Amino acid sequence: MRIRIKKPKLIDFNKIRKSNKSTILGILLSHAHQDHFLSLKNAEGIPVFTGKPSYEILKVIKPFSKVDIPLENITTFMDGKEFNLEPFTITPIPVDHSIYDAHAFHITDGSNSVLYTGDIRFHGRKKRMMETVFDKFIAPDVLLVEGTNLRESADKILYSDEASLEGAMVEFMKETKGLSLVACSSLNIDRVATVYKAALKAGREIIIDLYTAEILRATWNDKIPNTSWPKVHLYLNDTHRNIVKKQDCPNRNLKKNSAVFRYIFIRKLIFIPKII
Ligand SMILES: [Zn+2]
Repeated sequence: MRIRIKKPKLIDFNKIRKSNKSTILGILLSHAHQDHFLSLKNAEGIPVFTGKPSYEILKVIKPFSKVDIPLENITTFMDGKEFNLEPFTITPIPVDHSIYDAHAFHITDGSNSVLYTGDIRFHGRKKRMMETVFDKFIAPDVLLVEGTNLRESADKILYSDEASLEGAMVEFMKETKGLSLVACSSLNIDRVATVYKAALKAGREIIIDLYTAEILRATWNDKIPNTSWPKVHLYLNDTHRNIVKKQDCPNRNLKKNSAVFRYIFIRKLIFIPKII
């Protein structure tokens, strides 16, 4: 049987405002995954609230993906620190997700409350974070749940968490002659960290592209692998080079502080036989 999945429609916030004559006070952005931020281009003039690292990550995504992200509408919040959007008090709570800086939200008007989980998961390196959310906000009036991998059964999952995947990667890398290639999302920072850890254990070094390097840098977390670390190398392809060189690159920070200007160019992998 063939299952057809319809392409999801983007939300048109302005249309909602007009048709319901309602006021949209603001948009809470849990994290910088595309299925969360893509509709922001239809949210002209509506304030958007997200974490500071998520904002920095969006600044990197914008020039690389050419997606229209209205950065000027964004206000950043701090983890765990309440803020008001009258009549609501909102608490952003950090949760474990593949991308850095993901949040659940507790929203209350003093009488009733909503708990939105963000993309819930319990198989990451920081799975305890999600349990903390449920411990803290025990009985919300409404619980909104989203999930990373919601399945009925875990039977077909090869590796149940990052730790078991890391172990398998170490074995693969040791068995592989020559270059080991890994395909994963640059935004999956947990996974990039797994690749790095596995590479070290297998006696290898890693090479990442500029987009990945910039996403890692945007976290401003020096515990996350980045190209200033001796065993993390940058590969700059021509597409990425042109994005940075373009005068209309919307991310000024990218032009100024980019890894391009701080680290050695590795144009062709053939020049680094030590790693291959
Ligand atoms: Zn997500």
